[in-house]
Order: sequence, then structure tokens, then C-alpha cells
Amino acid sequence: MAKILIVEDEAKIARFVELELKYEGYEVEIASDGRMGLDKALHAGADLVVLDIMLPGLSGIEVCRRVRMESEIPIIMLTAKDDVTDKVAGLDMGADDYMTKPFAIEELLARIRVALNRHAKKAAGAKKKDEISFGPLRLDVAGHSAYYGEEELSLTKKEYELLEYLLKNKNIAVTREQLLNNVWGYEYFGDTNVVDVYIRYLRQKIDDRFEVRIISTVRGVGYIIRDEK
Ligand code: CA
Repeated sequence: MAKILIVEDEAKIARFVELELKYEGYEVEIASDGRMGLDKALHAGADLVVLDIMLPGLSGIEVCRRVRMESEIPIIMLTAKDDVTDKVAGLDMGADDYMTKPFAIEELLARIRVALNRHAKKAAGAKKKDEISFGPLRLDVAGHSAYYGEEELSLTKKEYELLEYLLKNKNIAVTREQLLNNVWGYEYFGDTNVVDVYIRYLRQKIDDRFEVRIISTVRGVGYIIRDEK
């Protein structure tokens, strides 16, 4: 379950929110001033911060600004009723949402759920960008590694790069020259046969190994990885 940090100097409010959150199953951490809040937001391993604006030490706005320099943790600001300047300043500093006091606890709980979900989706999206998938075949681009199902393929650097290029150009027939230029670099003036040799290695390691047909030959052109029709 997620851990929520409450930064609030009014002990009664902090305690009330803490009890409600714990009742919902959250772990809760409390900070009673701005400096402690900043420190805990960055180092206590919380998943979301409920941050009051009027705080001793550092204001909530300043805490928010400093947290944002280092962290994307979702922040819900608590503002005094109708203080539009505070709301705008909080959102400008990168807060995800705000609530005006006094607030209904159900609404705060709902906003916490929304902010946590949105953050989780964003994090998943960022992770996905570094992956290329083709059926059971998956490339970890940052890690330069390839998997078929759960099994990691032992590809050489060039084999990996060749596969990555073919997958990035999925459904496009790429010529041997294109592959030489993009995978081996422009400085390579060798015979284009080297491409055929490496395609053969890849086919041994993927197509033959898993009894599939991922890399197709396009006669007179080159090679293609094509989506199943
Ligand atoms: Ca306060």
C-alpha cells in the first residue's frame, strides 16, 4: 500500500487525516513543519505528499518548489479557503492538485487515489518508451538486451543493433545498404554480404531457436520484420 506524507502543523488536522488514511490502508508519515516536510518528502520513501501551505519554517509553496527540483512525487496542497494566490502559486510550483480547508475527507481520499494512479501511469509510460516489443520478442533499449518470452537472448552488439533497427522499421522492407549504413555506420564500405551473415546469426538465435519466423527476406530488396496479418 502507498505511503502518504502529511505535512501539517495543526496537530488536530494531521491526526485526523492520519487516522482516515490508515483506516483506508495507507502507511502514514507526519511532518509538522516545512523543513521536516521537505526532508521527509525527499528521503522518507513516501509515494505522495499532502502539503499544507501555511507552515512554520518553510512555507508549503517553498517546500513544493524545492521538492520539485529533485522529485516527481505527487503533491496535493492544502490551502486556506478562497486564497486564490496560494492556489495558483502552488500549482505553478508543480503541485498536482489542491484542496481548500475545511475539506471533506472523502474528497481528499478521492484526490489521493487519482494522483497516485496518474503518477503510476506516467511512470509506466516512461518505462515503456525504452522498450520495443514484437509479440514475445522484447528489446530493452537502454540495457541493449533482447528477450524472447522470459529468456534473454545472447546477442552480440551488432546482432542486437541489427534487430533493433529492423524492429524500429517494422513492416518496412529495408535494403542491405540501409542496414550497413545504419547498423555498421557510413564508414563501412565492405561487401553487403556481411548483412546476410548477421541475419543468419539472428535467425539461428531467434527463428530457429523458438521455431518462429520473425525475419523475412524480401527478394531483390532486403529484409523485413512484418506484423502477422
Ligand atoms: Ca498550517
